[in-house]
Amino acid sequence: MAQPSHLRAPHAATGAEFGADVDPFAPAAIEHLARRYGSPLLILDLERVRAQYRRLAAALPGVKLHYALKPLPHPAVVAALRDAGASFDLATNGEVALVRRLGVAPSRCIHTHPIKRERDIRTALDFGVTRFVVDNPDELRKFAPYAGRVEVLVRVSFRSPQAVVDLSRKFGCAPDAVPALLELAARLGVRVAGLSFHVGSQAGAPDKHVEAVEACAALFEAAAQHGQALEILDIGGGFPVEYRDTCTSIEAFCAPIAAALARLGPGIEVFAEPGRFIAAPSGVVVAAVMGRARRDGRWWYYLDDGLYGSFSGQMFDHARYPLDALVSSSGPKYPSVLAGPTCDSIDVIDEDIDLPLLDVGDLIVGRQMGAYTWASASEFNFFPRATVLALDRGRLVEDEWP
Ligand SMILES: *Cc1c(COP(=O)(O)O)cnc(C)c1O
Repeated sequence: MAQPSHLRAPHAATGAEFGADVDPFAPAAIEHLARRYGSPLLILDLERVRAQYRRLAAALPGVKLHYALKPLPHPAVVAALRDAGASFDLATNGEVALVRRLGVAPSRCIHTHPIKRERDIRTALDFGVTRFVVDNPDELRKFAPYAGRVEVLVRVSFRSPQAVVDLSRKFGCAPDAVPALLELAARLGVRVAGLSFHVGSQAGAPDKHVEAVEACAALFEAAAQHGQALEILDIGGGFPVEYRDTCTSIEAFCAPIAAALARLGPGIEVFAEPGRFIAAPSGVVVAAVMGRARRDGRWWYYLDDGLYGSFSGQMFDHARYPLDALVSSSGPKYPSVLAGPTCDSIDVIDEDIDLPLLDVGDLIVGRQMGAYTWASASEFNFFPRATVLALDRGRLVEDEWP
């Protein structure tokens, strides 16, 4: 299957951009890259990808981390995580094609979309993925023809109204529906390996994860009493990162979850599906001022990236990214407006941000912008999506995969 064009790196890379010890997110490095490659840019730092993976792995000892591709399905990120030993959470045929092209072992992948077409199941099976997620009887029946070749996790829903993005509304069965699904699976001969949940993205506190682990522990016990030994618990994603508001460290966030997991019975393998925590801090967006205008006593700056591009996460993901101007001036700051490039009036990034006086060509940098940004960007009005530059210890990673 051909990759969508945006997954192809736009540049033939030429090697080192700067020294291996230079932080690609430092102002001088960003300026260098913008001068050389233009704007808008999404700069990815593979060292940060690996560091986030290792940090979460340390905070959740013994948990097998499956990177959820959805927030940032970039080949360089997937390859870095593949080499770091990660497993992968796939949900679509495009994601299957990507990990397949990168030579990821299918045994390291699970397919977690609760609703699948027949051809989605066959595409994943053809690659070699054998673990799937279901949350209702109709989906379970779709696996009857593959009984003996597949196993499923039953996704349970725990509502999470305080999460910024509550994913438990759209997917997952009520905890009290689990026994009937286990019974149906037994009748169909489809093996149920365990349970999964996803409490929602950018969780504000670990309480929902802890409650869900405890509720699943009770479901495991009930299943065991009916002679069905479940052995996998998948605790999903939701691990938060810091945007404009401070948030708890990942170590503090995970400690009570790890404690709840430690109370599970022996012989239960635990998975997690982090996306944002790995992707968000690994990317910065660089946009340039295309033009400016003085309106109602304020400077409006029109950037070459906006809500229809990398800042789409402000709409879909409700994120507010830390933004700053990349100018050395220590002069005064003025309340300003940052707008995107399209002719649509909703395409305004920030209505009230203090910035120094900017000129055409000056750069604005958005931090924590690796997750749910470029992935959901469009080319509305024919403004191209940001060029992605994946940096690994000073080198631009070439997309060597055709
Ligand atoms: C999107 C998604 C994830 C990743 O969630 P984050 O909050 O970004 O970590 C994990 N699992 C499933 C099933 C998802 O849909």
